[in-house]
Amino acid sequence: MSAGIVQAAYIVAAVLFIMSLAGLSKQETARSGNYYGIAGMAIALIATIFGPDAAGTGWIILAMIIGGAIGIHYAKKVEMTEMPELVAILHSFVGMAAVLVGFNTYIDHGDLTGALLNIHLVEVFLGVFIGAVTFTGSVVAFGKLRGSISSKALMLPHRHKLNLAAIVVSFLLMVIFVKAEGSMFALILVTLIAFAFGYHLVASIGGADMPVVVSMLNSYSGWAAAAAGFMLANDLLIVTGALVGSSGAILSYIMCKAMNRSFISVIAGGFGSDGAAPSDDVDHGEHQEASAEEVAEMLKDARSVIITPGYGMAVAQAQYPVHEITDKLRKKGVEVRFGIHPVAGRLPGHMNVLLAEAKVPYDIVLEMDEINEDFDETDVVLVIGANDTVNPAAMEDPNSPIAGMPVLEVWNAKHVIVFKRSMNTGYAGVQNPLFFKENSQMLFGDAKDSCLHILEHLD
Ligand code: NDP
Repeated sequence: MSAGIVQAAYIVAAVLFIMSLAGLSKQETARSGNYYGIAGMAIALIATIFGPDAAGTGWIILAMIIGGAIGIHYAKKVEMTEMPELVAILHSFVGMAAVLVGFNTYIDHGDLTGALLNIHLVEVFLGVFIGAVTFTGSVVAFGKLRGSISSKALMLPHRHKLNLAAIVVSFLLMVIFVKAEGSMFALILVTLIAFAFGYHLVASIGGADMPVVVSMLNSYSGWAAAAAGFMLANDLLIVTGALVGSSGAILSYIMCKAMNRSFISVIAGGFGSDGAAPSDDVDHGEHQEASAEEVAEMLKDARSVIITPGYGMAVAQAQYPVHEITDKLRKKGVEVRFGIHPVAGRLPGHMNVLLAEAKVPYDIVLEMDEINEDFDETDVVLVIGANDTVNPAAMEDPNSPIAGMPVLEVWNAKHVIVFKRSMNTGYAGVQNPLFFKENSQMLFGDAKDSCLHILEHLD
């Protein structure tokens, strides 16, 4: 394949990636967005593998078959609830790839001299640094999402000074690296510093801020790919990396705004947060319980119902019976709507995906801002497996780790039914005073079973 055809194929692939992002921005067009992305990637791979710069095509195809088989195996096996972990670990691969490409192009940089060599060395240094930060940051995010690392923020003494020191030392190393026209020692040292920096940056972020970190790492992985594109002089990798990097950054910014968090604070490893501890020893009083039959009766008498789903609905796969309850109530003339918190579940848009999967009509699924004022005119709220996203402590307790985060103000409704299995806390690890309010009742058990029991009594 000639260089001209490869360039033309790269332009087509880049356009398809942009169309893919545009498609993915709306539920109705998300499926076609995926297809554009797949087509773009297929064109990009074929053009690269069979282009004039490729060598060892047989090895590349063998590696693709092995990698593809592992990918297909995991994609088939992974549960929807494990998707965020999978995304986090995939980001770590991009980071590691950038580090390896950096070392590779440093060792074999051809016959560059003068200014061109300096530019190349800066590309290598930055690529390795961003890649290494992305790698360990994503591994920590994977651990936190999987529950193998505590979701609480790591509060090392002088943590901000440590971060600043890592950046200053890395910058000085870059100057030494370029002046010496390359130094393997400096490159290895900055890789180790960046590994520690990435670990610390994400470990310092507390539970409820994790969604922003995941999208931020998404963005970092894009910049790591773009850096690899510069090192390999591959235009498509630069464009694709920049698309991922900037869309991840925009998503992080939107999520920060939705959660009332400072963007700078989150990307700088919790800078500006004082590491407040939750007021765990507060006595919230007694909680009340309801049975599925009582909830069914309450729903039959209601005029308006709002359902606020959370991570527990995903775990229980309760979206199908939830849809059936919605259908039955709507047929009885009850107004049913859904209130979706921007960080409900474990990945952006998690609840929307589940409800769309169960064929809940889009027009009754509303964002938090669209529905938050309506709770005081609502008869019954069903909180299905949500916890942090309906926690009034975010508004009432300035010491809470989720203080300041906007939440669904479900307690303003006449009755609140909370579907969960125990009195355990949610992802952020803080107790929820909602469960002890006078108008709240707990419906204990797996959310899907509870919904099925309610359905039995709804006729
Ligand atoms: P939470 O994680 O706060 O709470 C989920 C609740 O579901 C738990 O309290 C649990 O209680 C209950 N639950 C679990 N399994 C079941 C089941 N089978 N049946 C019934 N209940 C169940 O969920 P939210 O959606 O309210 O909040 C999301 C949290 O995750 C936020 O803190 C957010 O910041 C964080 N996060 C979000 C990400 C995103 O992108 N959306 C990414 C990373 C983190 P019990 O064990 O008692 O049943």
